[in-house]
Amino acid sequence: MFDKLKEECGVFGVYNNNNSFDTSRLTYYGLFALQHRGQESAGIAVNNNGTILYRKEMGMVSEIFDDVVLNYLKGHSAIGHVRYSTTGESYAENAQPLVIKYTKGHMAIAHNGNITNASEIKKELEDKGTIFQTTSDTEVIAALLSRVRIKYSAIEDALNEVMQIIKGAYSLLIMTPHKLIVARDPLGMRPLVIGKKDDSYVFSSESCAFDSLGIEFIRDVEPGEIIIVDNKGIKSIQTKTPEKSASCIFEYIYFARPDSIMDGIEVYSARYEAGRILAKEHPVDADVVVGVPDSGLAAAHGFADESGIKYVGGFMKNRYVGRTFIQPSQEMRELGVHLKLNPIRSQIEGKRVVMIDDSIVRGTTCRKIVNLLKDAGAKEVHVRVSSPPVKYSCYFGIDTPERTKLIAGTKTMDEIRELICADSLGYISNEGLLNTCKNGKREYCMACFNGKYPIDVNNKEEK
Ligand code: AMP
Repeated sequence: MFDKLKEECGVFGVYNNNNSFDTSRLTYYGLFALQHRGQESAGIAVNNNGTILYRKEMGMVSEIFDDVVLNYLKGHSAIGHVRYSTTGESYAENAQPLVIKYTKGHMAIAHNGNITNASEIKKELEDKGTIFQTTSDTEVIAALLSRVRIKYSAIEDALNEVMQIIKGAYSLLIMTPHKLIVARDPLGMRPLVIGKKDDSYVFSSESCAFDSLGIEFIRDVEPGEIIIVDNKGIKSIQTKTPEKSASCIFEYIYFARPDSIMDGIEVYSARYEAGRILAKEHPVDADVVVGVPDSGLAAAHGFADESGIKYVGGFMKNRYVGRTFIQPSQEMRELGVHLKLNPIRSQIEGKRVVMIDDSIVRGTTCRKIVNLLKDAGAKEVHVRVSSPPVKYSCYFGIDTPERTKLIAGTKTMDEIRELICADSLGYISNEGLLNTCKNGKREYCMACFNGKYPIDVNNKEEK
């Protein structure tokens, strides 16, 4: 079904105004804080007096960069990227930032998201003679931008036109010899925030990267906003946006780090609240509550506080194994759960356990974890899920498989309960989930739960 790469990524960029800090090291630490957004490849590109230097490779941030590399990457602006991709498409050419040369000079681009009409645009450009070297959307954006750019003297005006053509989710960083330009898609699907260090502007997928680096959080980049930073300062252009935004609610459920604040909502609080709502919607008689680390922990605390059932640390997690999902094959994914989690027997044995997980996608992970608890002596395992059933594929950058592989896309509640070996099963309702983000400034995309896609995906949707 998917003929191209789907990407979950993190981006970080800085325009270092007066060299008051080390640009590449700041970017390195920024990417390190965003490592949860992608562990397959990482890269940094810097602008060294008009020359773009870069390093990108497969692997984790700490594996790719060392002092020698960071000393080489000297520059006054930088953009960086961490990337995770799905099966089959994991090769180094797709690592970012993408650095290109074209008639008006050169630029580096880093992108988080998914362009839903990339195949169509690519075909049109190929028909006109453009050659593509990767399967990533980023190259499609770069190719389109360099073509449109010929008509404009300022790159941001070209980007404005490109944003009227491309559809989908994107948080975009573009570095040219004189500017750093960032843009967020008109629906605000993927997150992007602005911070300030001394007099310099910094951009990141998530605010958690700012806290550890002494960067002051300024605000979210608005949906459809283009921001340009150069030696004259900062400028913003608001492009055309639809009436309603559609920020990805799955960011709060699973993808983002709990200490990040996105569009006015702290991720931890949203998850905690989901746990409380879940306890009200699906109460159960039990002895202990455990959360599946890490994304289920905040909701487990919320569930325990609301229900009065004792919270216990049910699992030890080996932090040195990447996310279960990183393993490309199903076989490795299954093994990954065992490598990663071990139940703490004294907390589980002989108990009726409520197990809180953030989401069930294929159902493989959940079944394994329920069985780990049963093997550790749990008398009953009641699964409560802090997101609604994932019934529809995502086309905007969250890695969900095609519908037939989504357990809730094809099975009834009772069948799912049986397949995951749980004694009972309860998911938060769509309305309950929306209430976890009710104080935020956005409307949300809930397409993976309700099938209402904010952008037409009719040629991609499987029935
Ligand atoms: P499964 O049901 O086996 O597909 O695994 C679901 C688990 O994987 C959830 O509990 C999440 O912790 C995690 N997960 C959910 N969505 C994603 C995603 N898009 N990328 C990586 N991991 C995910």
